[in-house]
Amino acid sequence: MSENLAINSLLKEDLKQYIVKLGEKQYRAKQLWRWIYVNGVKSFNDMSDIGVNLRNKLNYEVSFNRLDADTHQISEDGTQKWLFSLKDKRKIETVFIPEADRGTLCISSQVGCTLSCSFCHTGTMALVRNLTADEIVGQVLSAKDSLFDWGSKNRKITNIVFMGMGEPLYNYQEVTKAIKILLDNEGLCYSRRKITLSTSGVVPIIQKLKKELDVSLAISLHAVNDKLRNELVPINKKWPIKELLSVLEVYPGVNNARRITFEYVMLDGVNDSIVEAKKLVSLLKPIHAKVNLIPFNPWPGSIYKCSSEQTIKDFADEICNNGGIIATVRHARGQDIQAACGQLKSNSERIGREKIKNINTT
Ligand code: SAH
Ligand code: SF4
Repeated sequence: MSENLAINSLLKEDLKQYIVKLGEKQYRAKQLWRWIYVNGVKSFNDMSDIGVNLRNKLNYEVSFNRLDADTHQISEDGTQKWLFSLKDKRKIETVFIPEADRGTLCISSQVGCTLSCSFCHTGTMALVRNLTADEIVGQVLSAKDSLFDWGSKNRKITNIVFMGMGEPLYNYQEVTKAIKILLDNEGLCYSRRKITLSTSGVVPIIQKLKKELDVSLAISLHAVNDKLRNELVPINKKWPIKELLSVLEVYPGVNNARRITFEYVMLDGVNDSIVEAKKLVSLLKPIHAKVNLIPFNPWPGSIYKCSSEQTIKDFADEICNNGGIIATVRHARGQDIQAACGQLKSNSERIGREKIKNINTT
């Protein structure tokens, strides 16, 4: 089988064109799409209504991009983490978080991240590259295989969040393509509301996002003044808080039922005072916002400590009860397997240092 073309790198329209180019009728593309994204088959030979001729052609030219799991760990709390190996031997991590009413798959958009937020383990990785659309979709397909999540009765992954490794808006083109594949209603059929893209605040791309994709949005705010945010989330030097919030005030399609989530990591003695909670409320008042407080997840060598439970509770109460903005606390999951937010850091670095490459912002 040739490795030239990964079938899940194609949008449905591209698959149609490809099939026609092979001299086949367009409707074959629809049949293939269903086999791949509804039934989850991994071989053209298992597609019973596809003729032998077409199967042979596809077997020759096209591959399925499932990712190879180097490790698959299951936490005491049911969280699962895969370390996937890519074709160039780089590694990425994907995490599944089961809850009573949903199952969330946290996927990566890059190997590592160029942005070096001071509290984030991923930001310390030396090697960075963008993932391709098929590597992004491949995480979902491979996790579905592993969780036996094919067929509507078995749906385990109900939500997908781009909160794994990488800044998704620095890989906009491939992330967009992958999201279109995830949304397709004749395939994986995730709704826009069930896909959340988390960004550290790439302002010009946020503006494109609504128009082109309209998925749920989460913003990693983490500080209420520029001095501290410059330190914690260095991209703030380029797009400071005021600029970031002003594009979100006018973010169309957002309303009381569909709010923008603001993520705020709780760092002991750094950003967790009641004064900061009050400031957060005043900053977010003009926006349809909700706040998600993330207790800091430590990693080897990190310089921060997590705020105490009482401090987090007081901070949440200030936002919610006094400020009137919904605030939830994200409970750390999978800590025993280093699967919690910001703990992801694959061992790709062992391959050796290399210049950051292939990063684009369009
Ligand atoms: N790059 C994107 C998405 C990936 S990070 C972004 O920054 O939004 C997903 C979330 O985890 C972000 O809100 C990030 O700030 C948070 N995070 C990173 N490191 C963390 C840590 N050590 N503890 C808790 N949350 C962390
Ligand atoms: Fe990158 Fe997000 Fe980590 Fe910042 S928090 S370094 S943007 S992955």
